[in-house]
Amino acid sequence: MSMPHTHRPAASALAIVLCFVLSALMPAAFARAHAGTGANSATHSNAKIKIVTTTPTFADIAAKIGGDHVDTLSLMKGKENVHHVPPKPSFVMKLRKADFFIHAGLDGEPWVPQLLKTTRKPNIQVGAPGNIDASIGITLKEVPQRGTLSRANGDVHVYGNPHYMTDPLNGVIVARHIRDVLIRYDPDHKSDYEANYEHFETGIHEMLDRLEAKLAPYRGAPVVVYHRAWPYFLDRFHLVEVGEIEPKPDIPPGPQHLIELGKLIREKHVRVVIVDTFNPLKVADRVAKENGAVAVVLAANVHGIKGADDYFSLFETDVNRLVEAFERGGTNDAAASSNGG
Ligand SMILES: [Zn+2]
Repeated sequence: MSMPHTHRPAASALAIVLCFVLSALMPAAFARAHAGTGANSATHSNAKIKIVTTTPTFADIAAKIGGDHVDTLSLMKGKENVHHVPPKPSFVMKLRKADFFIHAGLDGEPWVPQLLKTTRKPNIQVGAPGNIDASIGITLKEVPQRGTLSRANGDVHVYGNPHYMTDPLNGVIVARHIRDVLIRYDPDHKSDYEANYEHFETGIHEMLDRLEAKLAPYRGAPVVVYHRAWPYFLDRFHLVEVGEIEPKPDIPPGPQHLIELGKLIREKHVRVVIVDTFNPLKVADRVAKENGAVAVVLAANVHGIKGADDYFSLFETDVNRLVEAFERGGTNDAAASSNGG
């Protein structure tokens, strides 16, 4: 796994603000920490293990694996653009109480390194046992060729595509990672963590079978996305990305790009344009409508859209929306015409 380089855009001003707020709040934070379980204590039979995560998706999986033995808390609410979350002083306070911190790694959440630095809590710093980089063990897509690492293709996705949680099987890898970490930290409840993991994994496979069947009529259908957040999801469900509204990840589209994209949507018979919860639906709607497609908002994280209450209902909701969009947009005839021609 590649080691993330430091990538901290415009973070120094924020650091100063956070440091200031933190120092003002320090005595209270310390009082609470010491009144509680005792930092880094190996014996914690009564206290729950405190897990802070960047996304509600990680929090949900950690809660499912940790069960009654953990308390989870997400810094994000679910709709945010993970690449641009303004860290708040409250994030620091939450992290100071964490036994574990789960984050996406890579450059998916570029605001995290500075936040961790500001927090100054040794057990959750990079390399410490309480820091869980969820990308470890994931087979990344869109990894740049060796030696071509650069920001020429945009400011994010530099180490490969960081939106890996949109494939439910990657959720299983993360769940296994969390299980192993919890067993090491709290071996007394090993059997609980193992049972919770088994339950999770079985559930994901059952769900996947069901959702793949639902999307089977659209197998191979070409889609356009707003942000390049969907390659894991689209591969898993056998859909094909043929274009993006953003010319490069995180770079807004210009008029010429949208004209060319419109042409492509018509030529490839694209029926569905996938929009993220944090990008302008209006732009996607216009491009879609003008070229005979429909735009649909999908959530990449738990709580991103109504009904996406946990990792399972996230996929149920996304797939239902997608099927509805395909029905509204008509069936894809591109595969038929290219096979026939
Ligand atoms: Zn991205």
